[in-house]
Amino acid sequence: MMSTFSSKENFVNTFKVAVAETYGRDFEDTKSVERYLVLGHLIRDYAGINWKETKNAIKKSQTKQLYYFSMEFLMGRLLTNNLMNLGIYDVVKDGLDELGMNINEIEEVESDAGLGNGGLGRLAACFMDSLASLNLAGNGNCIRYRYGLFKQKIENFQQVELPDCWLKYGNVWEVWKPQHEVKVKFGGKVDAYMDYNGKFHMKYEPDFVVRAVPYDEPIIGYHTKTTNTLRLWDAQVDENSVKPGQLGQYLSDVSALTANVYPDDSTLDGKRLRLKQEYFFVCAGINQIIESHLRVYPSLDNLAEKVAIQLNDTHPVLVIPELMRVLMDDYNYDWDPAWNIVTHTVAYTNHTVMAEALEKWPQDMMRDLLPRVYMIIEEIERRFHYEVDHRNMGYLFNSVSILKDNQVHMAHLAIVGSHSVNGVAKIHSEILVNDVMSSFAALYPDRFNNKTNGITHRRWLLYSNPQLTDLLIDTIGDGFIKHPSELSKLMDYVDDPILQNRFMEVKRERKAILAKYVKDTLNIDVDVDSIFDCQAKRLHAYKRQLLNVFHIMHLYLRMKKDPNFRIYPRTFFFSAKAAPSYALAKEIIKLINMVAEKVNNDPEISRYIKVVFIPNYSVSVAEVLMNAADVSEQISTAGKEASGTGNMKYMMNGALTLGTLDGANVEIVEQVGYENAQIFGLHVEDINELKKENSYNAWNLYNQDANIREVIESLKNNTWANDPNAFQLIYNDLMLRNDEFFVLADFEAYIYAQSLVQRMYEDRSRWARMMLINIAKSGYFSSDRTIQEYADQIWGLTPIPFEN
Ligand SMILES: *Cc1c(COP(=O)(O)O)cnc(C)c1O
Repeated sequence: MMSTFSSKENFVNTFKVAVAETYGRDFEDTKSVERYLVLGHLIRDYAGINWKETKNAIKKSQTKQLYYFSMEFLMGRLLTNNLMNLGIYDVVKDGLDELGMNINEIEEVESDAGLGNGGLGRLAACFMDSLASLNLAGNGNCIRYRYGLFKQKIENFQQVELPDCWLKYGNVWEVWKPQHEVKVKFGGKVDAYMDYNGKFHMKYEPDFVVRAVPYDEPIIGYHTKTTNTLRLWDAQVDENSVKPGQLGQYLSDVSALTANVYPDDSTLDGKRLRLKQEYFFVCAGINQIIESHLRVYPSLDNLAEKVAIQLNDTHPVLVIPELMRVLMDDYNYDWDPAWNIVTHTVAYTNHTVMAEALEKWPQDMMRDLLPRVYMIIEEIERRFHYEVDHRNMGYLFNSVSILKDNQVHMAHLAIVGSHSVNGVAKIHSEILVNDVMSSFAALYPDRFNNKTNGITHRRWLLYSNPQLTDLLIDTIGDGFIKHPSELSKLMDYVDDPILQNRFMEVKRERKAILAKYVKDTLNIDVDVDSIFDCQAKRLHAYKRQLLNVFHIMHLYLRMKKDPNFRIYPRTFFFSAKAAPSYALAKEIIKLINMVAEKVNNDPEISRYIKVVFIPNYSVSVAEVLMNAADVSEQISTAGKEASGTGNMKYMMNGALTLGTLDGANVEIVEQVGYENAQIFGLHVEDINELKKENSYNAWNLYNQDANIREVIESLKNNTWANDPNAFQLIYNDLMLRNDEFFVLADFEAYIYAQSLVQRMYEDRSRWARMMLINIAKSGYFSSDRTIQEYADQIWGLTPIPFEN
């Protein structure tokens, strides 16, 4: 068969004809967008061959499959990734060259699929890539949001939110599957009745019904046939479900359901719609699983042997009562066998220990919106209560109840209904077992485990940093591409001055690419030979962007006061979105931008410090930022960051981790050694002690420490803004609410750690060696390792056996 991509000539001919046919005009008269769309469709169709074979092979071999339920998938762009994984990047690049086009220009047309808030959604995307690349049958299940999170603009130093219209040109990767629609029902009432045999049945009369219609995207593995599916559900009108006189209301309710990603991953807002979204994609996903299972197997008795469901955080926890509902109401299972199937199928990943971020729903809201599901949750609680009592552990009940204080505790429901509960980094899993979920750990000690997060080294090293990839292949061969643990071979060369120099050249090249991006988009000049110091992540008090900007403020004030104090030139990069309702976070963005304005325009200081806030943090921004970093800022309050994955992306591209002992930073230092990272600040134990003794007092630090006092005073004395109240929320949070996240407590340690970073950087050979060691040790953080652990230890998944 002559395939489109078998040679440059075939590609050029097919592509030109396809563009001309699609748009009914000569190829030369078409625009980049049109060419991008046609190219995307050609690639998707090409992937369709393996997609079909994957489905057939799974069916034929009866291979167990995973369904990854996640409210978020932060996929980013897919063109480069798909071309590279298919092994046809060069054919397409050369073909486009021949047609007088640069492939980068086409790549830039694609919108980021930003269907998520941050780390949790990006983890789901990395996992999809690893599953397919390891030949594991893994399906993603989510919502087809019409708008991504939001597009961030900075106006007047402040965040402005604009709609993220990622579907502006459609989505070339998706295939609409209207034949697989599922009806999802909300509200109304439930009646129970008894049949001839005395068995109870449920009759449900909903008051709101929508059709869930799937759009499937192929997830293409690296140099393999395996092509998995990411299924995104759209909500569409059900003609027969409109109540008389309510057409307008009905249409807008349906439309609202999939309008956008809930923009807030921390606070309690817009609740009801969010709960509707959760049930919507859970119900649709479960229905699809059941139907495809019954197409291959005679009954659902073996569901747990053939299907694993992973819940990415608590957002999809309704899977547990929903699967119970389907088994009992639709397939006549009794409670115990149904519960056995559910708990052996479902596993749960916890992503946070912060009390305010643990998901809870008002019982009334849940009962109103999902009456049958709520009944089942009550019964789960009743039986769980009985079990705990029966085991004489009733004293635990207050801390493990699912229904408590008129709320449904989703994490508790998740733990009770799963066979596995995992944290996402060692320290986080320990905190779960020893602290936050200790009562559950006493009840179910074998249920808890750790799966340290990872990132796909394909996107975050091979594709976004081809310069470094080439150097690595040149030095250690290409084995690390399939087996990232082989990056450790680099350890034999870290002292080689020639490699060190070549590496520093590569780093400089990446820094120049970032500098150009900053010049083009923000018109700021940055010095490529300065230290690139980067903090890019969601804006949260616990992530402590404030500590970072306070250090910059301190350096500025000190240099202004003391002409003999000068630092090695440094460029501080920030990129962060704040939840639209999170006023404190927004004020921190304003502070960063006002400090940037002041510093960058001070001719005395701007030779030493530049501050750059890159708007609209997204996967595409991360792809140019991370690999240009010298310093990776991972400075959360110890105990608060579950894992972090940004830290791994920087490490894999050589940056030094400047961090607290938190999340996966702990394992990064374990890999590279304390001499190849810069660790500072309070430990979890210190913070627990301060809290227990109630002995932390921000005012004491303010009174004792002149550096702290000057920085705090500068918030109010018009140093940065012409308004003493401009940073009132920040001031109040630190000084009147006693600095919940210990920013001031870690301030001096951080300043000192930063001075050590500078000293290390000034020894060029030592710095290069250290960066190379970071790369050499980063193989552990490939999500291929993480997924292999999930597959072996939780899912029981083996590779799809392809014939031939
Ligand atoms: C990796 C990544 C994150 C997670 O970053 P953390 O530093 O771990 O919080 C968030 N957003 C995007 C776009 C990312 O690529």
